[in-house]
Amino acid sequence: MHARSADINLSPSSLAVLTEGVALIAPNGAITSANPALCGLLDMPVERIVGANVLDPPWHLETRANEPISAAEGPVAHVLSGAGSLVDETVLLRSGRRATWVRMRVGPIEPDNTESGVIFALGDLTSVVDAEQNLHRLMFTDALTALASRDQIIRRVAELLIDCQTTACRVGVLHVDIDGFRAINDSFGPSIGDAVLVEVAERLRDLTDRRVEVGRVGVDEFLLVVRGDDPALAFDTRMRRLAEEVQRRIAVPYATNSLELHLTASVGAARGPDDADAAVELLAAADRALQTSRRRGRNQFRFHDVTVDIRNRQHLHLDRDLRLATARHELDVYYQPIIDLRSGELAGAEALLRWHHNERGPVSPAEFIPAAEATGAIGAISDFVLNTVATDMTEWDRDGIFPTKRRISVNISAAEFNRRDFLERLASVLDNARLDPERIELEITESLLVDDLRMAADRLRQLDRQGVHVSLDDFGTGYSSLSYLHQLPLHTLKIDRRFVGDFSDDRSGTITRTIVALAHNLGVVAVAEGLEHERQRRFLDSCGCDLAQGFLFAPPLPKSAFESFLRSSGTTALTGTA
Ligand code: C2E
Ligand code: MG
Ligand code: MG
Repeated sequence: MHARSADINLSPSSLAVLTEGVALIAPNGAITSANPALCGLLDMPVERIVGANVLDPPWHLETRANEPISAAEGPVAHVLSGAGSLVDETVLLRSGRRATWVRMRVGPIEPDNTESGVIFALGDLTSVVDAEQNLHRLMFTDALTALASRDQIIRRVAELLIDCQTTACRVGVLHVDIDGFRAINDSFGPSIGDAVLVEVAERLRDLTDRRVEVGRVGVDEFLLVVRGDDPALAFDTRMRRLAEEVQRRIAVPYATNSLELHLTASVGAARGPDDADAAVELLAAADRALQTSRRRGRNQFRFHDVTVDIRNRQHLHLDRDLRLATARHELDVYYQPIIDLRSGELAGAEALLRWHHNERGPVSPAEFIPAAEATGAIGAISDFVLNTVATDMTEWDRDGIFPTKRRISVNISAAEFNRRDFLERLASVLDNARLDPERIELEITESLLVDDLRMAADRLRQLDRQGVHVSLDDFGTGYSSLSYLHQLPLHTLKIDRRFVGDFSDDRSGTITRTIVALAHNLGVVAVAEGLEHERQRRFLDSCGCDLAQGFLFAPPLPKSAFESFLRSSGTTALTGTA
């Protein structure tokens, strides 16, 4: 009976209309039919495919890490043996001389029963992978100088730091800033300024020969990354010499038209894992060293000084104060409306934490969240945010002021998401407030997927089953590969503010356009962050971006102000007045 119903639904002629390459496979692995799209993907006539066996096929598959997938023991064999129920993976398909990225899906024709055979489908991912490579090129090289971009440098430093854990090497970072560069731009115009920057890049570029990587990270700021296998003191000496070499090269006069310009540079240095063991922190340490060196005048060099950091930290008492903050009622949740760009209506809101420190005044979450993660205070803070949001939403539902189809987004940091009891705690908060999980969207960052994709994917699937939506925050700043995003139950991509900031620069524009297209390709909603100006809104509209949040609509608002916003916007369309 089962086999017959499969025959009826999946005849070769009905397969012919599918754009995915599809084959039907008998329980012994023999391919019984294949559609034209599959012949196209494999570049083979149908006679060579039908009759072949998927356990020893005339093609090869490789994982994303370029490891061969054995046909006899791989996921397809598993499904056939009845051990695995469904495969959904991005793989590299090699057939003849062709290599194509495909999304491979294999599953029983009858649910949970392979006796009537399995269906094997390959979807061509070439366009997604091309777009991804394009995006990576844009994100990882600096358009003006073709040096590495900040993202690329962070990636490189992160890789080296991982190496250091096993080989006891060091990673040095030099942060170089041209003294008084703004004056050049102001007095001679940006085209001379750009020419000078390109020249500086040329002079630094060939330093890369000595296992040094160079990138441009700000208008007139450059980063050099060095790997060192030498002992600490010798490595410091090497970095100091490198800094001097950089300063010497930058000091050679620049001839532009009729002018001769003389420049100097300040340099700050930090070394990992001694000064910091995470990439972003190591860069921040080099930046702090640069600030100290700048304060001493031009053409200076300074190493990062740990004692300065310790002094600062002690002064802030961040750790102790954070733990007291909840008890002292210094924490508060603000809400920023998220607007549908087409209809102008409210599409949801993002909950953003605020800390009103009794002595220091408002402290930015960007500053205290990382500290809270480091000290473990994040657990209590996260509970506070989730509880507040759940309570507030139940209240709004009662008063009927927040649309019941809309969600509130809550930021969840990696340290929190990875905690073993995270899912249970979330469930119990929602349960206590009698809030439907479908009213909550969690915002996570890409780094979380990079650390442990399998674990993250498991959690995301559990959340998905509960109806909790998940969005990928600050998209474009991390290192994730887009081609596996389709395997994760994500609902939203939030385009980082950096790319939304300035469309006068076509790199950002192209990145934004590509991200929106990819989001739609993956079937998820694209949200732009940090929308401040009407012209940004017009650009986003032209890209087909779905939603946006930013000062143009409203800043993050305290609860009462957000309620007034909800009441005044009501069901009428919101106009984009700041
Ligand atoms: P995020 O999730 O990317 O939040 C967006 C940030 O952009 C917020 O900064 C928001 O105030 C700001 N913003 C919104 N519209 C505009 C605009 O038009 N222009 C500009 N320049 N900025 C805009 P905020 O509130 O300082 O939060 C910073 C980060 O701290 C957040 O970035 C998020 O990663 C984290 N964070 C905030 N609240 C929480 C929380 O409850 N838990 C966790 N784990 N992290 C949080
Ligand atoms: Mg967010
Ligand atoms: Mg964000």
